[in-house]
Amino acid sequence: MHVIVVGAGIIGVCTAYFLRRSGMEVTVLERQAGVARETSFANAGVMAPSYVGPWAQPGMPGKVANYLFKAEAPVVFRPSTDPALWGWIRRWLAECDPARFARNKARMQRLAFYSQSQLHALRKLHEIDYEQATGYLQLFRSPEEVERSEATRAMLRDLGVAHRLVTADEARAIETTLHPVTALAGALHLPDDETGNCAFFAHQLKGIAERDGVNFRFGISAEGFDLAQGRIERLRTSQGELRADAYVVAGGVDSLALLRPLGIRLPLLPVKGYSATVSITALDQAPMTSVMDETYKVAITRMGNRLRIAGTAEVGTTGMKLRDGALRTLLKVASDWFPAAAVYRRAQFWVGARPMLPDGPPVLGPSPIANLYLNTGHGSTGWVMACGSGKVVADVIAGQSAEIDLDGLTIDRYDRRRAA
Ligand SMILES: Cc1cc2nc3c(=O)[nH]c(=O)nc-3n(C[C@H](O)[C@H](O)[C@H](O)COP(=O)(O)OP(=O)(O)OC[C@H]3O[C@@H](n4cnc5c(N)ncnc54)[C@H](O)[C@@H]3O)c2cc1C
Repeated sequence: MHVIVVGAGIIGVCTAYFLRRSGMEVTVLERQAGVARETSFANAGVMAPSYVGPWAQPGMPGKVANYLFKAEAPVVFRPSTDPALWGWIRRWLAECDPARFARNKARMQRLAFYSQSQLHALRKLHEIDYEQATGYLQLFRSPEEVERSEATRAMLRDLGVAHRLVTADEARAIETTLHPVTALAGALHLPDDETGNCAFFAHQLKGIAERDGVNFRFGISAEGFDLAQGRIERLRTSQGELRADAYVVAGGVDSLALLRPLGIRLPLLPVKGYSATVSITALDQAPMTSVMDETYKVAITRMGNRLRIAGTAEVGTTGMKLRDGALRTLLKVASDWFPAAAVYRRAQFWVGARPMLPDGPPVLGPSPIANLYLNTGHGSTGWVMACGSGKVVADVIAGQSAEIDLDGLTIDRYDRRRAA
């Protein structure tokens, strides 16, 4: 069986790897010159399955409304007349209901924990080094933030995830390089949560998949599918037509452009975020673990001898321009906590677009078209979910049962044609 995968971000690469492992002939098409050049390129690198959850949560609409008037807000909303934007917001607001939030979070965590086990197995098998590290410290600048963390801690307790609420002094003992002058009321320490360089991992897995026999084709754009008798007959590309037995759309935010002409409607919204990457110039001043500043929702992750500083959720803006305000916030937070670790004005900046569905979970597996499969909509946690998503989709295409329950992780929740 020959399968064409469109997209070589982290999701497409993992899908191709697992498809090949289950014996398929696999071709990956990517318009860029290599793997992980778009949203998978310079994300925060955080792989904390226990923290995975939807952005649609109780209390969130009020928080977003407050952020609208703050200069260094972690969430930026630019209203426009685009009906797709308002349709997405309407659905997102409905998903902030407490019961729906709990359901969506459980769905995402089911996939995230499964994904972590797949990643560990893969790491053991291939000895992949992707600048991985363990330990995550969520920093609270105010006593109110400490208090508000109770809900998170209750959830971590229920999940049996190792965690500890620590005082400011204890936090500074865990991460000795935290700047003593910056106000710190306490922190949540998660010793087993992981971080790693997503693009590095994608490159190495691509190498392994290629040696296994996957055919990666770069600089080629998928332009549209042609249907015949309810099946995809061929794929039109910038380099002519291609045929396969099955097709997977793993095109991140641009998956919609391929799906919409087929009548597959998915409320996928690009939510922009930014990162700064800077070489560490003073090793003894740089963090050993990963930290997350709760006030600004900015993550600072050690990746080898560099720091990755990432954050901001921007909805409703167009284009992929770097926005000065967002970059200033990243550097402010990094300088607040680790002022002497790096020369921050030398940072390299990046902007990426999270492929976000309003309820949170991605869409995996079958579509309303028999030989077309989906692996998209991973939002802000695609790196955490990548290995599990790739394995699930490969299993489904191979005609095997997925190893996790797919309830709430397929397109059935948006497109009832398959469920009917
Ligand atoms: C600032 C920021 C921080 C983040 N931090 C984290 C984090 O800490 N942890 C985490 O788990 N996730 C994080 N994420 C989210 C994560 O990066 C994404 O969920 C993930 O990268 C999505 O992967 P993807 O493969 O679906 O998309 P992409 O990486 O965008 O890959 C899609 C690929 O498809 C290609 N493509 C699209 N259309 C076509 C076409 N028609 N023809 C050919 N090729 C096509 C594109 O060129 C692209 O390479 C973050 C995102 C951002 C923006």
